[in-house]
Amino acid sequence: MADKRDYYEVLGLSKNATEAEIKKAYRSLAKKYHPDINKEKGADIKFKEVQEAYEVLSDTQKRANYDQFGHASTEQGFGQGFGGFQSGGFEDINDIFGSFFGGGFGSSQRRQSGPRKGEDRLMQLRVDFMDAIFGKTESISLDVEEQCSECIGSGAHSKSDVQICPTCNGKGQVTTQQRTPFGVFQSSSVCPECQGTGKKILNKCHKCHGRGYERKRVTVDVKIPAGIHSGQQLRVPGKGERGTQGGPNGDLYIEILVSRHKYFQREGNNIYINVPVSALDATLGCKIDVPTVHGDVELTIPSGTQTGTQFRLKGKGVKDLNSSNQGDQYVEVKIQVDDKLSREEKELYEKLRNIKGKDSIYDRFKKAFK
Ligand SMILES: [Zn+2]
Ligand SMILES: [Zn+2]
Repeated sequence: MADKRDYYEVLGLSKNATEAEIKKAYRSLAKKYHPDINKEKGADIKFKEVQEAYEVLSDTQKRANYDQFGHASTEQGFGQGFGGFQSGGFEDINDIFGSFFGGGFGSSQRRQSGPRKGEDRLMQLRVDFMDAIFGKTESISLDVEEQCSECIGSGAHSKSDVQICPTCNGKGQVTTQQRTPFGVFQSSSVCPECQGTGKKILNKCHKCHGRGYERKRVTVDVKIPAGIHSGQQLRVPGKGERGTQGGPNGDLYIEILVSRHKYFQREGNNIYINVPVSALDATLGCKIDVPTVHGDVELTIPSGTQTGTQFRLKGKGVKDLNSSNQGDQYVEVKIQVDDKLSREEKELYEKLRNIKGKDSIYDRFKKAFK
């Protein structure tokens, strides 16, 4: 906290900057450092810094607190529930809160003014192994809160039903004075009548019952791009949590979880598969049709192939999500021995063993110990 930069300095403004100047500076800096635009290292930190500075300086009360108390005014707990806290010449905030409110002032509602974008939402979506490789459009239904189409968010039956809140005169907050042994304290808090909106609704909208928004079940078509990996996220704009006071909804992020396949394994853009080959076929060599995600591909197993040998089928893997590169498929041969032989087969194997005589693979191994 101690090495935080001055908020005016962050926005490149002087202490007596106007609201319009603050807004203008914020807009241009937020654009400059937005992580979607600026990929330079540290841009995200600058972006956060700019946002934080704007959040304070764009709010008259917060700005006044900041001008008076500096960064301490923005720390957790400061002025919560009391909004602007005007003290009569006290320097040490903790002292005031500690002695006066017994520390138990942390409260209910943080004052919010102006439109705010809603929070982002995250959900997970399980996707079939093959669909992740070739892409698919998946329809999902979800509940979202959207601005009421009838009253366009005002919550009122008609335009004339919206009036200025008489309790706060439309300011959205009320100021109270407290006489204490230390002097007169002025504090402001969210207007209890209008909850900070500054408006009074005479006749409520019949569709949303004055809430200004509706909860809807919507179907969203999510385009799953070919080549997506497990854990990657897709963004669906505007389907996050509801914004407040006319602010836009947050975004929905969908984390993709790719299901396993019974035989194929995927690592990056490469596919791995184990195939069983009989000892006889491995000894003599053979041609096999190997399954790939693109269909069967003929593979020649040369004579004398050992178990564990890996073959590469170039370009038979997954097409890269962001380029035209194509992964490969790796085929690992697992030699399996027949455990059910016909009488005739058994006789032929016996014959073969007799021909080999005392030169079996095991005999060669054993010689090393003599
Ligand atoms: Zn409505
Ligand atoms: Zn009010």
